[in-house]
Amino acid sequence: MAFGALLRESPSLAAVTTFAELGLSETTLQALRDVGYTEPSPIQEQTIPPLLGGRDIIGQAQTGSGKTAAFGLPLVEYIDPEIKDCQAIVLTPTRELCIQVTQALRAYGETKGVDVVAVFGGAPIRTQQAQLRAGGQIVVGTVGRVLDLITRASLILHDCRFVVLDEADEMLDLGFLEDVEKILSRTPSGRQTALFSATMPPPIRKLADRYLYEPEVIKVEAKTLTVDTVEQFRLEVGQKDKPAKLVEVLAVEKPTQAIVFARTKIRCDQLFRTLRDKGMNVRALHGDMSQGSRDGVMLAFKGGRVPILVATDVAARGLDISSVTHVVNFDVPISPDTYVHRIGRTGRVGRSGRAITFVEPKQQSELEAIEKHTGVKMTEWAPGAKTAAAPVEEKPHRHDKPQVDKSVDHEGPWAKLIVAAGKAEGIKPADLVKAVTSAAGIGGEAVRDVKIFERFSFLSVPEGDSKRIIEAVSGAEIKGTKISLEPVGSES
Ligand code: AMP
Repeated sequence: MAFGALLRESPSLAAVTTFAELGLSETTLQALRDVGYTEPSPIQEQTIPPLLGGRDIIGQAQTGSGKTAAFGLPLVEYIDPEIKDCQAIVLTPTRELCIQVTQALRAYGETKGVDVVAVFGGAPIRTQQAQLRAGGQIVVGTVGRVLDLITRASLILHDCRFVVLDEADEMLDLGFLEDVEKILSRTPSGRQTALFSATMPPPIRKLADRYLYEPEVIKVEAKTLTVDTVEQFRLEVGQKDKPAKLVEVLAVEKPTQAIVFARTKIRCDQLFRTLRDKGMNVRALHGDMSQGSRDGVMLAFKGGRVPILVATDVAARGLDISSVTHVVNFDVPISPDTYVHRIGRTGRVGRSGRAITFVEPKQQSELEAIEKHTGVKMTEWAPGAKTAAAPVEEKPHRHDKPQVDKSVDHEGPWAKLIVAAGKAEGIKPADLVKAVTSAAGIGGEAVRDVKIFERFSFLSVPEGDSKRIIEAVSGAEIKGTKISLEPVGSES
């Protein structure tokens, strides 16, 4: 239903296509009715016909776009039920994604009786070898384990003519690209290949050039992926206040299920302990944990028994948990793409979600890069905050008694100030710097971190001079708008 809504919002795709029109067989259509999909998502609409037609494709799409069915449905159609050998392989970067894709493919291939086997590290190889001996028309596997099974001659890819690389950029990040090439070289050269990647860094492009044949490139913009269904908030907070703020946010938001993202395994563990010590029902998920405990955590979270999961990006990548209502970025994601991946965990098909990103005063530019990437300005978080049509029109939450927010560096403390005017008034950074320097009689080096938003702007000045600057600038005009400066309330 939500995908239908997305389609209707996009004028170029106004006429909603049905799954039947994409060329899927009645058997598969029945499977889709069973899983409850009524309309194809944009990536499905664009990917299914060329894949059914035997073309190679590059799909630039993230989890949450419906990419699994985009390749999974043609995959199921492709399988000859009479042949028991491995006819298709899906490579995934992580074990979690492997399991998830396997479950999806089993559902799509249920009516046709397609046999799907999952192979991944951290589980007994013997069991997987036995499963492969018994069947496995489609094998879904993590790169390392697949290679291992090939080396042991337990997995033979001579007749594997359909290859999917899922989340190829993540394979690159994890250092698996060479192994991926080794696996590809074991498959017939006349194979059909589909490569999915949220981003297309040069090594992935090179891989595609070398191993794909005249691929059709299908790109689903991040904006249509997740952002539409996710209310996005930012919360400016000093580093040391972050844990306390997180506790407050969780208490106020009362998420049904939330994933809190931390940048590193260590922070993930620390945060987990902080929340646990506050009496919260919380678990941690990161790469240093044993497979067994990761599985336990996943099952508990997926089953809804645990409402809060603190995770690192890699561990939580690709997880499809439709009941997640909140994503909290405790640390600003390392890249805009990571941000989209993270918030893609919420606001899943047919639901809306809330994403709250903690930003330290010095991380403004990182946040702006994210906003530029998603095309959505985040609203300042406050208890009960809602995103409006023009989200940045909301003013930041301020305390009754404003305090000067100090950002100390080698030149001494700086005070962060806010101006109640911004882009809407036609103000550019240079205008603001000029107005402040000329009114206060200070040099340009005394103004820094200028950020212009729709209805307000920020700048920092040396704290010792801030009072004088505030007074001097009060009433100055920029492009006919009277401006005044105020200290930004700190979060403490
Ligand atoms: P994916 O991007 O493949 O991880 O899919 C995200 C979620 O969307 C999964 O929970 C799928 O079951 C669901 N989904 C995929 N395609 C559709 C569709 N056409 N209609 C409704 N839900 C879908």
